[in-house]
Amino acid sequence: MHRIHRELQHLAEWLAILEGKSSRPRFVVSSMFLEQCFRQLTTDEREQFFFITGAEVDGVGVLDQKVEFAHERRTVMGVTGNQSAAHRMLIRLEQFRHRRLGHFHSHPGKGADATHPSGTDEAFQRRLETAGDIPRSPRSSAATASCGSSV
Ligand SMILES: [Zn+2]
Repeated sequence: MHRIHRELQHLAEWLAILEGKSSRPRFVVSSMFLEQCFRQLTTDEREQFFFITGAEVDGVGVLDQKVEFAHERRTVMGVTGNQSAAHRMLIRLEQFRHRRLGHFHSHPGKGADATHPSGTDEAFQRRLETAGDIPRSPRSSAATASCGSSV
């Protein structure tokens, strides 16, 4: 029953978007860019993370550029960014008046659970949205992708 309710909500959101009645953030991304990101995210067995940016045209975020920065630590369990590198990355985005439109990261592991955002991911997304830098999304995975193997 919960799944049917969720699917109906999703359908209603799409209808509102199609009718131009939604203030929900909208994004465009190419399958080629997604494939490139997937390859980088799954290069090794350690978690990988990068932000995504791009132009915004008529309220639609074009997800077409990876924004990478040095990491302090990358393990199977998580990734920690280098604060100085992250600060430089934010300054560079500001110079070009770009926003972080989303972030992609990997979940090393197998099974369906490896493909869903974790509690840590959802809390991180809420912090980014609260800061106002990343577009708000009713479903935290709108511009957030987690990838793991579904095998
Ligand atoms: Zn995650």
